[in-house]
This record gives sequence, structure tokens and C-alpha cells, in this order.
Amino acid sequence: MPVLSLDKAYSHEELSTWVRRTSDKLGHAPVFVVEEKLDGVSIVLYYEQGVLARAVTRGNGSMGNDVTGNVRTIRDVPLRLQDDVDIAVRGEILLPLVAFRRLNEDMETPYANPRNLAAGTLRRVKSRETAGVPLRFFAYEGFLTDVPAGRSVSTHRDMLLRLARLGFRVNPHMGLFSEQDVSNPFPDDAAQLPAFSQVQTGTLADLEDAIAQWTADRESREYEIDGLVVKLDDLSLRDELGYTGHHPRWAIAYKFESPVSVTKVRSIDVQVGRTGRITPVARVEPVGIGGTTVSNVTLHNQAYIEALELHVGDTVEVSRRGDVIPAVERVIEPNPEAHPYAFPTRCPTCDSVLEERGAHHFCPNFRCPDRMRGQLHFFVASAQMDIQHLGSETLNLLLAEGIVEEIPDLFCLDYERIAGLPGFGARKIELLKGSIEHATSRPYRTVLASLGIPDLGPKFVELVCDAGYRSIDDLLQLVDEGRVESLIAIDGIGEKTAARVAEELARPSVRSVIQRLREAGLQFSEEHAPEKAESVEAQIFAGESWCITGSFENFQPRSLAAEEIKSRGGTVVSDVSGKTTHLLAGANAGSKRDKAEKRGVEIVDEQEFLRRIAATDDV
Ligand SMILES: [Zn+2]
Repeated sequence: MPVLSLDKAYSHEELSTWVRRTSDKLGHAPVFVVEEKLDGVSIVLYYEQGVLARAVTRGNGSMGNDVTGNVRTIRDVPLRLQDDVDIAVRGEILLPLVAFRRLNEDMETPYANPRNLAAGTLRRVKSRETAGVPLRFFAYEGFLTDVPAGRSVSTHRDMLLRLARLGFRVNPHMGLFSEQDVSNPFPDDAAQLPAFSQVQTGTLADLEDAIAQWTADRESREYEIDGLVVKLDDLSLRDELGYTGHHPRWAIAYKFESPVSVTKVRSIDVQVGRTGRITPVARVEPVGIGGTTVSNVTLHNQAYIEALELHVGDTVEVSRRGDVIPAVERVIEPNPEAHPYAFPTRCPTCDSVLEERGAHHFCPNFRCPDRMRGQLHFFVASAQMDIQHLGSETLNLLLAEGIVEEIPDLFCLDYERIAGLPGFGARKIELLKGSIEHATSRPYRTVLASLGIPDLGPKFVELVCDAGYRSIDDLLQLVDEGRVESLIAIDGIGEKTAARVAEELARPSVRSVIQRLREAGLQFSEEHAPEKAESVEAQIFAGESWCITGSFENFQPRSLAAEEIKSRGGTVVSDVSGKTTHLLAGANAGSKRDKAEKRGVEIVDEQEFLRRIAATDDV
């Protein structure tokens, strides 16, 4: 039996129309069953002679993935039934919200919702790991290959009762609605089964209220539901109505409103990050979600794609919950012609063979062009080397022009060529030069942590330096002699990190970058770090009080000039007063300039200001 998706209704009117039309087709009002549309992973369990033989995901509807080993670890899934029957059981695997929140906190890449985490868990290689996640299972359909005599199953509620008696958990939140109230929907002895003690019944006129109540109640459930399913109770009537190419005609899903949109996956590309990490990204047909247009959706890693069972050409639901980045919620219509997505084995940029580490793939080439670009942006940023006059726009221009490719190129820039680029006046070049030269005085610890070597961050650098390895030579020697255990011996450095850093520092590509930077004069040991060099040369505005007015060529916004003053010990005030010592006056300076002149405050123009701050870089 193919696992088909359901036709959908998005309003109560659409649902009523469907109920009415279905009754018209049949010539009478049948009994409708209402169940929660559980927001989990659909699964089909095959039992042979009462023993669980196979558990298969929905896949493309006719072929899914075998996840038997992992499903066996789920407490709600009986391994042996009360009867030796051959039966296929459909149901939903769920992760309760409480467990989802707890587990997701520790995730390197948190999941967008419990469903995706549950799906990811089912695809784990080690069943032991699956067993550690408290997944639940609700059964909602059964298909018997032969029905033992005396146990007729002619309605959906018969089947639910049968499933419960076989040992399955059945969702107790269900209702039965028809033209007249359905009285005694279950035999008396069913009441002892917990699922059947709270079934709602009513007439079709009650349906709207019941749905409103359900919608309100869903917040209080321990798991997520994204709608309700309304289907015919009588199995022979289901046969009578049959199927369209896509949906059964005897059921419909009533969807709750949610911040999701439906779109199509055009392609799956991979991006190479600064550390070499490969991130697959779904390029989707642009779609509006909550006021923004989404066309790229991150897929995190290979396991994530596999958990979603996502292919190019699939119709998918994309969400944007709060501030969370857009996520593929699920596949709603698989592309029947697509092959499973094959994760690349080589870097799309430099063709290096990718390495698998944990859940992610990495390009191991430190000089991969994509990585070098990321490293450059990281290196110049204020949190690292803080090369102030090399903002990301300027850097992108230099990259686009081929003037820089990797970090060491910054220290042998072709300034004549740069002078020919639009927007590079003599002053701007002077500032750029000054701030790059300044980088050679940055302390060893900052330099090392700015190189973007994976796992070699400020914390690691601090631990290693404090443990007595105060130069790059100390560190490289340790690596060359294979003394990784000396790193592990340092309190705070784990085995994995030590091994990873040693591996990176052994790479010729990393060595060559370090060598070139050394030749450029960067600090690679602590002994030679100039003591308090930065603060001495930076404090030229100490004790001065500056007011800034007018507009500037090199400081847009004006706050950039204020930062230059503050970082050199000066204070910045908003108006000229008796205490003001300097006025930095740009073009079109107005009344503040007049005030300053009257009070005898020193007036400094942009050119003079640039000369003063550039001078500090030469000290
Ligand atoms: Zn690469």
C-alpha cells in the first residue's frame, strides 16, 4: 500500500465543504473520525507472525529507508504482538517537547523542531545512540493480510481497538462525528484500555466547536501536532471512494496556521567555510515567510539531508520560527524521479578529497580559495588583528581584483595597483598601510589565534602559552616530535582538540602561511612582544576633549573618527564648551566651528587629523 500524503484544508470552511461533498458522494452522512495530526516521523512497521520484521520510513511513498535496528529501541514499539498476525502498522514516531528542548541545548547544530531531531535520531548508525533518545510511537492505521475468524475489522475504530489489544499505543485524543451522535462507539470492555476512555462523540454540527477546542488544546500537549486528520470510519466506504493519483479521497488534513511556506528545492549546493567545513544549502524557489523572502536554506550536514529524506525537485515546507534561521521542516511531495542526494566527496572549490569529522565534512586544504577568503575576513576583524582600515568592503574589492588571495599577501600589497582602484585616494592608502603595519606589533597570542587554524582559538593559545610554549617554534617542534601527549597534559585541553591542532600544524599549507607571515615581521613568540606597545603609541590624545562636526571623506559614519580619538586616550563630547580642547571640523562645519573660533578651541581639519593618527602607527 503506497504511503500517500493527505489532501489539505486550511480553514474550517474548506473542511466543511469536504465533509459535505464526501457525504454527497456517498449519498448519506457517514461516521467521520477526527484524530490529531501528529508532527513526527511517519513509519511503517511490518510484523510477520506477530514479530517485528521491518521498520521503514515513508521515503517517496513506495520505498523508504530501513530503520529497523533503531526502531527496536523505542519502548512503545512492541517487538512481539499479543497475536501471531501478519500486519503492517502505520504510525508516528514522536519526540516529546520536554526531551527535545533538553537534547537540543547540547547540539552543535540545533534542530528546528522535534520532528527533525527524531528523524535524525532514527538515521543514527549506532542503535545505542537512538536508545538514549526517549522517542514515542503512536499507531494509527493497520493493514491485516488475513483477518482471523471472529475478529472482524470493518471500521477504523475496530482497527484502533485491535491495534491497542495487540500491544500498540493509540492516541487517546480522538473524536467520532456523524449526522447523529455516535452512541456506544466501542464495546464495553474497550473502556479498560486507556486510549478509549476519553473519546469524544458528537454530531456534524458539533464538529466546528470540537475543532476550535482542539486547536486551543494543542499547546498543552506534550508533543507537537500540526493539525487534525478527518477520515471515514467505515473501511468499505473508504474502498468505495478510493484514491486520486496523490491522495486518498476518504481523508483530509486540517492544518493549523503556522509560520511555514511551501516551495520547491531547485538544487543543493555546498559552501566551504573558513575552517573548511562544508555546509550544504538548499536553493529553493523564492518564497515569502513571515514578511521575508527566503531562497536559501541551510541543511547543516549530510545526516540532516538524510534525516529529511530530501531530494532536488522535492516540494518542501520551509519555516522561519522567530529569529531562527530558515529551516526545511519536511518534504511534503517527494520528486518521484530524483535519486538520493549524493554528498560530494571532493571540495567544489579546490577539488581536495573531503575529510569526515563527526557529523561534518571538511576541505582539508588550508589554502583552499574559499577558506582563504574566510580566513582573511576573520584575520582583519576587530575581534582578531583589528586592521581598522581594511573593512570587509575594501577586502572584498582587493579579493575581487586578485590583489590578495591569502593572509600573507596583506603584508606585501601592491600599493601602486591599489592607487589605481576607484575610491583609493592617497590618504586612504596611507591609512591602510599604517593599519597593516601596525598589525606587525600585535602580540603573538593574538596573531596565532587570528590565523583561523581549526580548533586553535584564543582559549587554546592562552592555555598553551601559559603552559610554557611561548613561541610558534615551541609548538611546531612539539608537533614534529609527535609529542601530542604534552598538549593533552595541559589542563583544559582535550584529546580530540590536541590531535586536531597537531594535525593542522603538520600541514605544509599551514606551515607556509606561518613562514610567510614570519618573514613579514609578525610576532611569533612572546619574548619579543613589545611591552605595552599599543597603549604607549595610542595615547596621543590623552587629556584632550574633542568635538566632531561636519562630514568626512575617510570617516563615514562620523563615529569612526570618535573611535580613533577614544582609542588614543581622548574623550569625545557632543558640543563645544569651555572644557573642549579640539574641534575636528570636516566639510560644511557650521555653528560649532564659529563657537570654537570664539572660544579659541584648536580647530583640526581631516587632513591634519589623519596625519596625527598615522604618526602613531610609525612610532
Ligand atoms: Zn577546498
